[in-house]
Amino acid sequence: MDNEQQPNFRPALEGFRWDGVAYQPYKQDGSAPFKDVSRQVLFHADGLGCELRYFEVGTGGYSTLERHQHAHAVMVLRGHGECLVGAEIRSVKPLDLVSIPSWTWHQFRASEHEPLGFLCMVNVARDRPQLPTEQEVTDLKALPGVARFLEKPEHKAHRSALSI
Ligand code: MN
Repeated sequence: MDNEQQPNFRPALEGFRWDGVAYQPYKQDGSAPFKDVSRQVLFHADGLGCELRYFEVGTGGYSTLERHQHAHAVMVLRGHGECLVGAEIRSVKPLDLVSIPSWTWHQFRASEHEPLGFLCMVNVARDRPQLPTEQEVTDLKALPGVARFLEKPEHKAHRSALSI
């Protein structure tokens, strides 16, 4: 899909959807390392070299714990939750900005009360995410607060992923 070929105006709809933007829900299959995440690609512009996506993590859900060479620029639009970036865990709220540098472990988790929605900007040309090995998960859990973060609910490493 190349949004450069699409109309210039795509009105917002109810519920954090957009006219003319495909809604891509991902269902947890029991073994995947994410839970209840949807993706909408708002802009994909080869000319700009970037993509802007809207991800929504359902109540109590979480994105894949991963790292990669490419960076992310995130703005929270909806709800509350927590994110892990490197060794740091932060609470997030609407309009907060989160930079995820190259090769930095990251994961977003929605609160138990509401979905967490955020914009995420990435380069059009980007590498595939890496998932942590068992040893890397063990090392991450040794950091302050990270075990609690990863264990609600239980995190399962797996090779197929919904990366953000
Ligand atoms: Mn990512």
